Amino acid sequence: MLALSLYIPFSPELLQSTSVVSLRILDRNGYLLREVLSDKEGRSQWVSLKDISPNVILATVAAEDSRFYEHWGIDTRAILRATLQNIRARKIISGASTLTQQAIKSIHHFPRNWFWKFVEIWHALRLEISLSKDEIITQYLNRIPYGNQTFGINAASWLYFDKPPSHLSLAEAALLAGLPRGPSIYNPYRYFLRAKKRQEEVLRRMLNKGVVTQEEYRRALEEPLNIIPPQVSFRAPHFSDFILSRIPLKERQNISSIRTTLDIELQKDIETFVKNCVESLKEWKVTNAAVLIMDNERGEILSLVGSADFFDSHHSGQVSGVTALRQPGSSLKPFTYALALEKGMNPATLILDAQIRIRSNGIDYVPRNYDGKFHGLVRLREALACSYNISAIKVLERIGVESLLDRLKKLSFDSLNKGADYYGLGLTLGGGEVTLLELVRAYSTFARSGIFKKEKIFLDINDIQGKTKPLPEDEPVRLFSPQVSYIITDILADNDARIPAFGAGSVLSLPFPCAVKTGTSGNFRDNWAIGYTPHYTVGVWVGNFDGKPMRNVSGVSGAGPLFRDIMLLLEKREKRINSNFAIPEGLIETYVCPHSGMLAGSSCPGRIKEIFIKGTEPKKVCNLCSIVESFTLSLSKSPLFCFSAFLAHPQST
Ligand SMILES: [Zn+2]
Repeated sequence: MLALSLYIPFSPELLQSTSVVSLRILDRNGYLLREVLSDKEGRSQWVSLKDISPNVILATVAAEDSRFYEHWGIDTRAILRATLQNIRARKIISGASTLTQQAIKSIHHFPRNWFWKFVEIWHALRLEISLSKDEIITQYLNRIPYGNQTFGINAASWLYFDKPPSHLSLAEAALLAGLPRGPSIYNPYRYFLRAKKRQEEVLRRMLNKGVVTQEEYRRALEEPLNIIPPQVSFRAPHFSDFILSRIPLKERQNISSIRTTLDIELQKDIETFVKNCVESLKEWKVTNAAVLIMDNERGEILSLVGSADFFDSHHSGQVSGVTALRQPGSSLKPFTYALALEKGMNPATLILDAQIRIRSNGIDYVPRNYDGKFHGLVRLREALACSYNISAIKVLERIGVESLLDRLKKLSFDSLNKGADYYGLGLTLGGGEVTLLELVRAYSTFARSGIFKKEKIFLDINDIQGKTKPLPEDEPVRLFSPQVSYIITDILADNDARIPAFGAGSVLSLPFPCAVKTGTSGNFRDNWAIGYTPHYTVGVWVGNFDGKPMRNVSGVSGAGPLFRDIMLLLEKREKRINSNFAIPEGLIETYVCPHSGMLAGSSCPGRIKEIFIKGTEPKKVCNLCSIVESFTLSLSKSPLFCFSAFLAHPQST
């Protein structure tokens, strides 16, 4: 019966590598960002026998079980010798375990007593019947602990020598082969001399067995062992968390490595920028900031910084400002205006910026402009560039909250999960809560001439067998026409148009084309700068995770300077020559009157060049200025005074 039971096969799951595999998260060039330890709190990377240096196999057999290829699971000679030793010592001091038995122990973790010793032997005999010698030693080499939380030769080889196990020299292989006997006793970090002695013993055994020559033995003894000091990889912590959040726990066990889109060199620079920015805004009661950088062409996330310091628990450093829900302030306005352009308005359309009362989130209120003033009739270009609140409300009133909300949902603002009635017209002023990630991917749509793409964070995913898993590609979707996208870009990149609100030469004026929008939520709780060049979209948030207001920090003084620094850095890296936004067909340029938005006439005090989607351009020549002119001639005062009310734009921060 017992003999027959040896033929019970092992379940394949038991021999699979899943339970000990740790997951390595890499940057786009293969640098380790984080190694997620397995369930057993260990590092392990399964490796097949052909990828292990023969030195390791020879050294392991010599060190642990010199008759491995001759016995059938247990080594009777060794057991006899060990039993005598144990009886003399009256306790188990020598196990005489074969590699097969040790493989079994690392699969089952039996308690250490006589009964379980027999169970172990029974399993070892079974394993010899089920598997070939090569398969057994593969199990051993992948499961056995090598100390310092490493399981298996692959993880050990990387940890101690920073190289794959196929590249281990004889001297290195002998050192590693000696460790499983006592991973803490021979810990090369703590007791290097002991580990070296053990290595010499393994080499001597190899020489005695005749698997190495005298010459190889001598050279291996002399070879200096360059043990890499232990290094903890915990780079781009919020990004690594973000990666893990996208992989269900169940799937994680089958993955050994993930090459992500992150660029660690860029990431390090951005982390420094964020730290410095928060430091410089300390007096303004700013404790945190977050940044997200996307490559527009492929939608790849190149850098993600979730807070100023991940380990600063006092300021909730582990919260990620990239995925936290925050009020976006004015940063949703460009989408409101994009819809207005779709509905036939143009950049010269006049909008009345005067006192109104609206209802948002169930509350009646009178929206105010940032500068506390009303600006009278303003052109759509100025209204967006200067971020006037009341004009945005007026425009949204015309296009309808429903259609804005609908488009925002198509742009993957999943956080806006309530109905249009709930948000009301306040939606365009940032009444709903969104994330920096949602904002960045939505803005990148304009940079891509209206094509929406989900962010890409994975380049390759390798499973535990080393196979690359196919990654599903999200289909790009057109959400705005190239013409509408271009006009929004042109307005957001128009340094002159925002002068009335932001002043000339503000931090938002960059020495290359760059579209940008700032936002500040109520009571200075959140501060945003989101924008793009043809190549990159950058989102910056500044604020406090505990919701405490900052002191008078606006988009220009808070997030703006950080945004500027990042864009300048990216532009320096950029090797592509053409950094102008591509102008699509179907647009025309014409001169309009700055006051009426109609075609400029002879009485107009000036004329400005404006772009229009063909067919939406003004058809009539300005008659307003000539009326005003004749009025001023007859009555020398009041009408001009009224009229000039909306011509003069006070400076504000
Ligand atoms: Zn005019």
